[in-house]
Amino acid sequence: MSDAAYYQQLAARIAYCRDLGIFDFYRRGEPAAAVEVAPPVAEPITLAAIQEQVEIQEQAIPPRKTLPAQPAVGGVVAPAKRPAALVAIREEIGDCTRCALSQGRNKIVFGDGDPNARLMFVGEGPGADEDAQGLPFVGRAGQLLNNMISAMGLKREQVYIANIVKCRPPQNRVPEPEEAHTCSQFLFQQIDVVRPEVLVALGSTAATYLMGAKSPLTALRGRVHELRGSKLIVTYHPAFLLRDPRQKKEAWKDLQIAMAELGLK
Ligand code: SF4
Repeated sequence: MSDAAYYQQLAARIAYCRDLGIFDFYRRGEPAAAVEVAPPVAEPITLAAIQEQVEIQEQAIPPRKTLPAQPAVGGVVAPAKRPAALVAIREEIGDCTRCALSQGRNKIVFGDGDPNARLMFVGEGPGADEDAQGLPFVGRAGQLLNNMISAMGLKREQVYIANIVKCRPPQNRVPEPEEAHTCSQFLFQQIDVVRPEVLVALGSTAATYLMGAKSPLTALRGRVHELRGSKLIVTYHPAFLLRDPRQKKEAWKDLQIAMAELGLK
């Protein structure tokens, strides 16, 4: 990556953190000496400021806690066998035509990330970029999700990401109930294999089909639900946050609940 691209990416990350109300950054290699680099009121980020190499400190994700004694459907898959178990689910899906969404898709978007992740994000469905690349959350909303993950002190490779439906709905419409119910059987299999300690539902569609009931997002946010042995936190979809950035602070509150459940600072 070129220096310019690096600083641009860093600037985007710092801007996102400021949107969230995070103003404390730390110099790498001096973890004990916190250096406040920004006043409470966001100022334009200068290249010079960035070139001071102020970086958000990446957090090492703490070890997996003992999961509650609530067996996953189909039993617990040993950590070493999880990658192969996910491959088996992908093979079972095959060149799927189980629902109408197969007709317009380019690529099935199965899921991405660490098969042993402690944290899993679930979105609604692929968009145009995801449909083209076959990976979840790689467009603009995906960039924002990456920033959200970074703000939590994690790397994208440390989490697992999937959607309710694995094929792009036409014009990015909300999946029909039949499509969501047909496809989510595979998502639940993925959840049972990964067995994350914390699931984060991104948006109302994800929350609805994970929980099996439709409720207003405002009624679901701000508390911890239980799902298949995992803690479930509900927050806004990154695509919604792109349309209404004022809600980023609310989303950050939700992510802080997830962080507390994971023991992250
Ligand atoms: S959305 Fe899911 S169930 Fe429908 S065709 Fe795609 S993979 Fe199959």
